[in-house]
Amino acid sequence: MGSKDQNAPLQTFIHSASDEGLSSITTLIVGSKNAVLIDPPHLIADGKSVVKWIKETTTLPLKAIFVTHHHPDHFYSADIILDAFPAAKLYAAPYVRAGIDREYDDKVVYWNEMLPGKMVERPRKPEPYPFSFFVIDGNPESPIMLLGPVQGDTVDHTLFWLPREKTIICGDAVYARSTHVWCDEVETAHLLVAWQKTLDLIESLSPTKVIPGHLSRGAGWELDAKADLAHTRKYLDLFAEKITYAAKKPTVDDLTKTFSESFPQAKVAADFFISHLANDFGEGGKVWEENKHHNVGARTEEGLLGYIVK
Ligand SMILES: [Zn+2]
Repeated sequence: MGSKDQNAPLQTFIHSASDEGLSSITTLIVGSKNAVLIDPPHLIADGKSVVKWIKETTTLPLKAIFVTHHHPDHFYSADIILDAFPAAKLYAAPYVRAGIDREYDDKVVYWNEMLPGKMVERPRKPEPYPFSFFVIDGNPESPIMLLGPVQGDTVDHTLFWLPREKTIICGDAVYARSTHVWCDEVETAHLLVAWQKTLDLIESLSPTKVIPGHLSRGAGWELDAKADLAHTRKYLDLFAEKITYAAKKPTVDDLTKTFSESFPQAKVAADFFISHLANDFGEGGKVWEENKHHNVGARTEEGLLGYIVK
């Protein structure tokens, strides 16, 4: 719909991808004259669903699409959306674009083999966006801040913070309760601590609306800022206990059992999430090499938390 009132706050709407698309969230920000999208889904079918949903949600023109982090389930279908809205620009923070560049060739081969015909073969890469905030033309009182780079389920995320609306779009720094938390890339205690600090940062802003990276489209699931932050924290605490700070490396079976039983409500692509976690961190498990392009083990806590000026 979109408000005609220039002084009205921005409105945010969310779309969840299918279970096969891992339920990733796409957010539409609607202003008085224009709209902006955050995080296109992975699959062509979900991208088409987003196009239909945008047209049902607003008649205002889509001006830009931003990407929170380099993972495929947050931008691979951008081409489908840009075909429908050719005037829109595709952007990501420069450090997000750098992450895409590091893994692009291997990830595109991997996912085309996993999902033949279901994804855009050579997804368009976002242009590096050089600013630390943007304003949607028509809504000068509602700047949108790009907070980053911060740690989420991978290095170098952007959080999109709408201070006036007290809404934060978190990408995969936060997962909703319906979904397991992707911990595959949390290879060191530094990364774990940095992710926990990102959750502290989000909470310290006192947002009234927290939009996570994944939420099931299934019946009964709604956004819940407090519960989703608590779910992500609980997951990281269990990960810390069983993996990061464990005295002995657990077995693949132990990890599968522990994480399945601890989060029984998290049903979206549960096998995908748990088998990667158990294999990557369990004794004798098979590591997912296509996902290891970021040399995350070399990141220091000082570097990851460089935004905290001491
Ligand atoms: Zn994701």
